[in-house]
Amino acid sequence: MKFGGTSVATGERIRNVADLVAENSKKGCKIVVAVSALDGTTDELFEAAEGAKKGNETLVREFKLKMLRKHSEAASKAIRNNEIRKEVEQTIEKTTDELEKVLTGICYVGELTPKSTDYVLSFGERLSAPIVCGAIRNLELKAQWFTGKEAGIVTDSNFGEASPLMNVTVHQLKERIGPLLERNVIPIVTGYIAATQDGVVTTIGRGGSDYTSTILGVAFAADEVWIWTDVDGIMTADPKIIPSAKTLPELSYQEAAEMAIFGAKAMHPRALEPVIKEKIPVRIRNVFHPENPGTLITEQPNTKSKEAVKAIALIRDVAMININGASMVGAPGSYAQVFDVLGKNNINIMMISTAISESNISLVIRRDLLARAISNLEIALLGRGLVNEVTSEDDVSVVAVMGANMKGTLGVASRIFTTVARKSINIRMIAQGSSELNISFVVKERDGEAVARAIHEEFKLDKI
Ligand code: ADP
Ligand code: ASP
Ligand code: MG
Repeated sequence: MKFGGTSVATGERIRNVADLVAENSKKGCKIVVAVSALDGTTDELFEAAEGAKKGNETLVREFKLKMLRKHSEAASKAIRNNEIRKEVEQTIEKTTDELEKVLTGICYVGELTPKSTDYVLSFGERLSAPIVCGAIRNLELKAQWFTGKEAGIVTDSNFGEASPLMNVTVHQLKERIGPLLERNVIPIVTGYIAATQDGVVTTIGRGGSDYTSTILGVAFAADEVWIWTDVDGIMTADPKIIPSAKTLPELSYQEAAEMAIFGAKAMHPRALEPVIKEKIPVRIRNVFHPENPGTLITEQPNTKSKEAVKAIALIRDVAMININGASMVGAPGSYAQVFDVLGKNNINIMMISTAISESNISLVIRRDLLARAISNLEIALLGRGLVNEVTSEDDVSVVAVMGANMKGTLGVASRIFTTVARKSINIRMIAQGSSELNISFVVKERDGEAVARAIHEEFKLDKI
């Protein structure tokens, strides 16, 4: 069972989480828990680290006290038993002291590396896990918490987006956590954080607790992995943008992965990788409505759906780069040069489109990387005869329309683009992968929500 940030946002919600664990444990289920940081904490840690880099020592002190207060308050609401609560409060004090030291160190050095960023970000889960563990013990169940590192989750050293080394990870998890299950102790593992083989703390990408839960699922050959969140499952669109969005009762691994990759925030894009090979079903469920079945993700869903389009995602915080150069035409390796520059600078390309004329290539990347991407492209490519111009737009969004049955269904693209045209909205860039599982296009950010709503309506997704 994985519990996301909103599920553990407050002491009351943590009590609810403990109840859910207890209820299922009493039914005889053996449970391993992965837990996220309290809602918003990872963002706050990131901001504090940035502030520390600028040498703001007062901010560090205030931030430590804020974290101490937030987590102590949650603990005091989540745990009634005095002894357990005191123990957890001591852990929170010790951990926030350490956080203050780390941030102060960053203040003095004035440098924030990906490695030190991961270390700072790890504190969110290191502070939430002991509270959740305490709340479960408060219900007279045996529980013990571990950091990802202590549990044995090993990754490469690609800080911020590290990949698990599955063989050694599974081996260590079995060895370290397995015996607890035998003794009916519920292990609580921090989501999102792990360590390199040398023990340096890493994180596995934002929203990574989902990924942690499927890694744990594989290690213990779980019957199902349950990802508990604040909505009923994976839906036809983000219900915060389109309130009429419907829950999809079943999805294939492929469809769910495609949706996650294309920004349905409900799940980490790589979370399904570990379970696909082992065919372990994943269920997305609502902590506020545990009576609902949620979305079941399996290799082959029982109900075959006919709809071509199943879901829409709106991806904000992106930017588009256009690279123009007549000399790129018929010049083998010219695109490779572009990709090489971005790759070497650790900038991920989310979407590509190019025309047969070859004189223009458009890319979509994360917006916060735009300045770095542009300057590196200009330094490497301009004035060398291949590229004339690099332009960009940072006020755009990607709309992704998805569905496994789009493959081979005629007229889907035409319906999508007619719908957009009817709203007099201009499309800046289009891409359809040959998988044909999705069509993605770029519009101005101010038009994104209207486009998503119009397509949701056109394909009657509220009636799916
Ligand atoms: P958690 O804290 O549990 O990890 P997240 O905030 O990461 O939760 O993800 C859940 C949120 O994802 C929902 O509240 C919802 O607003 C958003 N979301 C975006 N697209 C979708 C979708 N297609 N289906 C369900 N939720 C979505
Ligand atoms: N706390 C981490 C984040 O906010 C991981 C997670 O919530 O899954 O990205
Ligand atoms: Mg999440």
